[in-house]
Amino acid sequence: MHRFTPHSSAQAASFVLATLLTVFVLSGLWELKLEGWTTALLGLSYESNFEAAERWRFILTSTGFSALALIVPGVRIARLLAIQRKAFAALRAEQSRSDSLARHDSLTGLYNRRVFIETLDQRLAVPHEKTAVLIIDLDRFKPINDTYGHATGDKVLCEIAVRLAEFGSNRSATVARLGGDEFAMFIPEGSRETLALISESLLQKIGAPLSGISGNVSISATIGIGMSPFDAATSEGLLKCADHAMYRAKKMGKDSYHFHEPHYDQEQKAAAQFEEELAYAVAKEEIEPYFQPVVSLPDQRLVGFEILARWRHHDRGLQMPDTFIPIVERLGLMPEMSFSLLKLAIAHALTWPGEMTLALNVTVGMLEDSTLPERLCSILEQANFPFSRLEVEVTEQALVGNLPAARRALHALRARGISVSLDDFGTGYSGIYHLTQLAIDKIKIDRSFMNDPVLGRDKVISAVLALSKGLKMLTTAEGVETDEVAKILSIGGCDFGQGYLFGKPMSGMEVDRVLARTPLNTLGFRAIALPSDNTLQSVT
Ligand code: C2E
Ligand code: CA
Ligand code: CA
Repeated sequence: MHRFTPHSSAQAASFVLATLLTVFVLSGLWELKLEGWTTALLGLSYESNFEAAERWRFILTSTGFSALALIVPGVRIARLLAIQRKAFAALRAEQSRSDSLARHDSLTGLYNRRVFIETLDQRLAVPHEKTAVLIIDLDRFKPINDTYGHATGDKVLCEIAVRLAEFGSNRSATVARLGGDEFAMFIPEGSRETLALISESLLQKIGAPLSGISGNVSISATIGIGMSPFDAATSEGLLKCADHAMYRAKKMGKDSYHFHEPHYDQEQKAAAQFEEELAYAVAKEEIEPYFQPVVSLPDQRLVGFEILARWRHHDRGLQMPDTFIPIVERLGLMPEMSFSLLKLAIAHALTWPGEMTLALNVTVGMLEDSTLPERLCSILEQANFPFSRLEVEVTEQALVGNLPAARRALHALRARGISVSLDDFGTGYSGIYHLTQLAIDKIKIDRSFMNDPVLGRDKVISAVLALSKGLKMLTTAEGVETDEVAKILSIGGCDFGQGYLFGKPMSGMEVDRVLARTPLNTLGFRAIALPSDNTLQSVT
């Protein structure tokens, strides 16, 4: 594009002068020399003594007329130049405004994301330089926007931007707004200690009361830090690291800072993979039922099994419920997993002699679903497994979590002949009132009572047994590990026992083998479950 510069008017003036000088010199040359030569050449008469004054008048007249002839175009040119100068100034202003818009965030005036990345790239291209990228995300900005309106929210962002810019300019940092309430800064700094101090004072500066809002309102921020070349060498990589660190800091409690930790990333990836595999395993019905024997007391005869979930992971080996049940729950797959466990367990149980019961653990979420009784019944019906052989175990917490739903579900189950046990009795909040109001058939005394170090085992067991007898409920004691405890339970009138003394949880095949080896009603189960080679002890 052609540019009109202020030099143009000087050029115009020198053009005028040069024209006049040329006319002056040429007319002089003509009058003093060329005229004589030309007339001589043409053979015309020439008066060389013509008055000198006359010649000079001619020269000046020519020059004068030329000057007059230049006045109109000169004025026009001057006007044109003035117009062009004005247009040029306006164009320059517009250009710099659009340059600035393309480079800066329109609200706060800080650099935008693109320019931040460009500048960071330039910095990272310098070898051996250490750089830290900080992502600064405001905490609870949305409530400020919602409470005070967007105009105030904008003011807050601008005020924070000014604070960050001030803070950055003292530390040769480049500051930008990445979008929303997210800011970024890169600093020529490679020491974690210094960066920790910087982050602390940055948080302090951000946390000072805001002047844009009446009252003593303040806001906090969470900072994630990525360091080059330690964490990543590219702007994209560094921003990602800082971002991950920021999210981690948010999770651990806001108003704080966090450095990127490579291990954390790996753990996150592994956890995500574990979750994916788990969902797949649930869908493929690969979660396996293990069976822990329940015996009657005092004769220790096998009466049934509790179904306990296990997952055979191809790399990690046999997974216990505490490693995957909470994830299944979070993924909302608990019903799917439990129904499939029940189906698989029934398939085994149908091949066993006698009328042994199966106990299935059920969560609060499942209890809240009013279709639970029907779904359980349809599984039992399809397998031709008597309803009376199924027990459902619910924890106190599940019951108290949603009492009306629990009440409905328990009644519906009982109406169909499925019995209900209260699991982990004594560990949660259970008003005895609830127990009497709900359709509960049996309580399972938590294993923690079997060895109470404070009050003494015997007294606690007797007290809990007296309570359950008073409520006229059947009782199972969990976690029975010694003969001594089995004896105390038997004397106290406990109906059933479950624990390593009688058998650890075992696979269906293991139960098949044990039962095939020994006729069920001729011996107490303990004799069955603990064969001479004691293989069952190592099942889990
Ligand atoms: P829970 O229902 O209280 O199951 C009893 C737990 O105590 C089992 O642990 C069992 O292995 C363990 N145990 C049994 N006897 C003894 C003993 O004598 N001493 C000791 N120290 N422990 C004993 P497990 O199999 O690891 O299950 C843990 C919990 O996971 C279960 O506690 C239950 O809350 C949950 N869970 C397991 N499978 C399922 C399931 O299919 N669905 C649901 N919702 N929860 C399940
Ligand atoms: Ca249980
Ligand atoms: Ca239990």
